[in-house]
Amino acid sequence: MVQRHPTIERLMELLGRLPGVGPKTAERFAYHLLRIPRDEAMQLAAAITTVRDAVRVCSSCFQLDAQDPCSICSDPTRDRGTILVLEDPREVARFEDAGYRGLYHVLQGRVSQVEGIGPDDLTTAALVLRVQRESPREVCLANNPDLEGEGTAHLIAEQLRPVCGNVTRLARGMPAGASISQLSRSILADALDGRRPLVPPA
Ligand SMILES: [Zn+2]
Repeated sequence: MVQRHPTIERLMELLGRLPGVGPKTAERFAYHLLRIPRDEAMQLAAAITTVRDAVRVCSSCFQLDAQDPCSICSDPTRDRGTILVLEDPREVARFEDAGYRGLYHVLQGRVSQVEGIGPDDLTTAALVLRVQRESPREVCLANNPDLEGEGTAHLIAEQLRPVCGNVTRLARGMPAGASISQLSRSILADALDGRRPLVPPA
C-alpha cells in the first residue's frame, strides 16, 4: 500500500482534534480539501487565520469579542452588580435578546466525567478571583438544567460560597406556551418546587 504523504497525515491529525470528528471523518475531510478547487481550500485556511486574529477572548468574562475587555465588560451602563455564569459564549446572545443587562462569566465548558473535563479545565478559578475583587450583589449560575449542568453548578456554588453570599440558579419549570399534558414528570416537579406568588408581596 502506498504511504500517505506526511502532510495529509498531519492535516488528518489536526482535523481529528475537532469536537465530534473521529479518524474516519478526519480522513474524509482531508481528502475533500484536496479534491475541491485550491481557492476554496485556501479560503478556509484564511478564514481560520482571520477569525483567530479578529476575535479575542475577554480576559475578564471569557466571552468572545473584537476587543479585550469585551464591549459588555467595558460598557459603563451595564449593571455591574450581577454576574450571569454561562457554559458557552454562544449563550451570551440569547440572554442579550432576553433583555439581561448585567455582566457575564463564560466557563468555557462544563464538568464532564465522560469527557474527562474537571472544574480546573473551566474558568472557575478566574470567576472566584473576580467575585472576590468586584463583590457583585449576585452571581447567578445559568448552567443547563441537565445532569452535567447541575453537577457543574453545584461545584461552582461550593467554590463561590466563601466569597459571595448570594449565589442563585436560574428558575426551572414550565416553558412558556407549553401544554401541561405534554410535560415530563421532572419538569412538573421542578415547576411545583419553583412556584411563586401570583401577586408579589408589597
Ligand atoms: Zn468581558
